[in-house]
Amino acid sequence: MKKYYLMAPGPTPIPPEVLQAIAQPIIHHRTPEYEALFGEVRAGLKALFQTKEEIIPFAASGSGAMEAAVVNTLSPGDKAIVIQAGKFGERWGGICKAYGIQQVVLEAPYGQTVPAERIEEALKKDPSIKAVFATHSETSTGVLHDIESYAKVTRNSQAILVVDAVSSLGVADLPMDAWGVDVVVAGSQKGLMLPPGLGLVAFNQRAWERSKSATLPKFYFNMATELKCVVKNQVNFTPAVSIVLGLKVALDIILKREGLQAVFKRHDRLARATRAGVEALGLTLFARARPSPAITAVEAPKGIDGEQVLRTFGKSHNITIAGGQGEMQGKVFRLGHMGYVGDFDVIVALSALELVLAELGVPADLGAGVRAAEKILAEVR
Ligand SMILES: *Cc1c(COP(=O)(O)O)cnc(C)c1O
Repeated sequence: MKKYYLMAPGPTPIPPEVLQAIAQPIIHHRTPEYEALFGEVRAGLKALFQTKEEIIPFAASGSGAMEAAVVNTLSPGDKAIVIQAGKFGERWGGICKAYGIQQVVLEAPYGQTVPAERIEEALKKDPSIKAVFATHSETSTGVLHDIESYAKVTRNSQAILVVDAVSSLGVADLPMDAWGVDVVVAGSQKGLMLPPGLGLVAFNQRAWERSKSATLPKFYFNMATELKCVVKNQVNFTPAVSIVLGLKVALDIILKREGLQAVFKRHDRLARATRAGVEALGLTLFARARPSPAITAVEAPKGIDGEQVLRTFGKSHNITIAGGQGEMQGKVFRLGHMGYVGDFDVIVALSALELVLAELGVPADLGAGVRAAEKILAEVR
């Protein structure tokens, strides 16, 4: 028997008490019981998103939440800035393309970021731009983009700022109201420590106002119809009841047991330990800009296919990590450390990495990665 470890940047491990909640007998969604449950979840989500606005849940993956953000804020032929420095930035582009949105693509090479000044310039040059689509934690490259600066630029412009926070909600600080972010989208299977299947969308008043004139086609993903139900703790369509049951417990763990700021600190500390360990093994981090606390992307060792690294993690140690997406396949491997993770998950990942490198014949000092990580863990409290 080889004990299984899920160390991918989503889906992520689930705490036992959340699993237990999910395993409860199903309750009907048009009952006082469900309304009471959703009422608590609704309040918790506002605290998690750091907003006074309502959060709309959909039974969908994170990409569904992204699509909901697009179809409820834009009309056919509208123009939008799409910030692309990785696969998830490109997903915004893909959704916009599907709906006939004219795109002003602001690109940076993978591993880097687009400075806010470029957005400011583009918005000034073209006052017809209606929205800016950005990614907080770019899970494909391991970079955390500077949403606070982006919001400073969009706040006083004609464009709304739409942020993909699927791998950063409950991982990195993103105070929606304080920063003036107009739309935040997230999913259940990353920092929220839940199974995949729940997409979350938050609009501020500017975005709700915009939604009134947005004419892109939509049926299931209609934010205005959902809002009418949400404010009564009700639902329009059958919700992902079991995940909502788990969400109630996950929110309690994040907000009450640990505290949101402590959750951010934990992720930052674990990410720092991971990066220190990786570098101590002579490997190179893929991020050239501010690294994400959710995930560490590592360049494949010289002469080794990154896919071979992740296959060896799986075959020899029964550990799931992730490879590179798209053209990054083979060039990187990615270690997830978001959600239900602690000090010794990082140690397990680095220890396994050392053994994988040894197995692949990459010269690495056994124990060096673990030692460097433990140094951070001992120093940073
Ligand atoms: C995981 C993820 C998504 C959503 O992916 P789904 O497979 O649709 O849930 C979107 N953006 C980012 C940054 C992600 O990490």
